[in-house]
Amino acid sequence: MTIIGGGPAGLYSAFYSGMRDMKTKIIEYHPYLGGKVNIFLEKVLWDVGGQPPIHASNFLNNLIAQAMTFEPTICLSQKVDRIDKEEEYFIITTNTGENHYSKTVIIAIGGGIVEPIKLDLEGAEKFEMQNLHYTINGIERFKDKEILISGGGNAAIDWAVELLPIAKKLTIIYRSDELKAHESQIKKLVEHGVEFKLNTELTKLISNEDKTAIARVRLKENDVEYEMAMDDVLVCHGYNREVSLDFCESIAPVRNEYKQFNSEGQCKTSIPGIYAVGDIVAYEDKVYLLVGTFNDAVLAVNSAKKFIEPDATSYAMVSSHNDKFNERNRVILACYS
Ligand SMILES: Cc1cc2nc3c(=O)[nH]c(=O)nc-3n(C[C@H](O)[C@H](O)[C@H](O)COP(=O)(O)OP(=O)(O)OC[C@H]3O[C@@H](n4cnc5c(N)ncnc54)[C@H](O)[C@@H]3O)c2cc1C
Repeated sequence: MTIIGGGPAGLYSAFYSGMRDMKTKIIEYHPYLGGKVNIFLEKVLWDVGGQPPIHASNFLNNLIAQAMTFEPTICLSQKVDRIDKEEEYFIITTNTGENHYSKTVIIAIGGGIVEPIKLDLEGAEKFEMQNLHYTINGIERFKDKEILISGGGNAAIDWAVELLPIAKKLTIIYRSDELKAHESQIKKLVEHGVEFKLNTELTKLISNEDKTAIARVRLKENDVEYEMAMDDVLVCHGYNREVSLDFCESIAPVRNEYKQFNSEGQCKTSIPGIYAVGDIVAYEDKVYLLVGTFNDAVLAVNSAKKFIEPDATSYAMVSSHNDKFNERNRVILACYS
């Protein structure tokens, strides 16, 4: 089985397909796994079954470790462009020109390829390794720093709230005259004296003497331009989303206006052998959260198993009936004794 997308839905599909004794491959566009969880690594997750409040980065590590249980093949840095079919095999073509052959396909491309909208300012790219950020990975780095945040949506304001207890100073700039984030979050920032500059945008990044980091920024507030010193710049201007995936006409599954794959049940698409899971599938009462991805993964893998082996059981036996787990349990249980 081939899983397209290595986010939560794809990762759990890989684990569960191992439980069903299926040979599995994940193809992921990014050079890393985890999908959208990588956007909110600093968040504490409260709503995942069986988990006490957990840091998203730890949750992601656990999810990846679990997905590796049955040693699936992982192909990173490959974007699946197109799917064709020849006899009983789907042919999955990626942007590297490589073809992957598979009897079943699980589409787990979530919101598509999601990448932050970057600053269109000269030389901005070279500061990305230093003090220009598009998300926060390791909040401690910002302790006692003067931070300029550009953006007025939920992401910008939520990060400001997270940074509030540790930053020395926060300044939020936004190009419009009205912020778009939740009012309660904005109120929190106002109460703590965070400075808001509306109708303001970044026009220039000015580097330090050895040109390794941004020392100052140039801002345009209404029609007035001026410079400001800061330690770090966090840009939250939203994300570009790319959900293109082509199929040869005879095997093109039905998609809705949001490019999601319609499912009538068990995460089956309109094409036998192709399944869709996670944020890219649409059916009545679908839950677009992590817990929803796990349920979809189980349904899709079980459907795929039956597609390949019609006499297989409808779902996997409980953990205690799994021979592979029993073998490993000896090692795990030895640690408890
Ligand atoms: C800011 C934010 C906060 C959130 N907080 C929570 C929360 O607190 N609790 C919760 O339950 N949920 C939360 N969610 C929702 C949760 O992140 C999603 O429901 C979940 O990530 C969906 O997983 P997925 O695998 O379907 O998709 P994604 O996470 O989007 O993963 C899809 C993967 O497919 C890859 N891909 C896409 N196209 C291709 C292609 N053509 N070829 C190869 N690879 C491809 C992408 O690069 C990506 O890695 C949050 C989401 C966001 C954005």
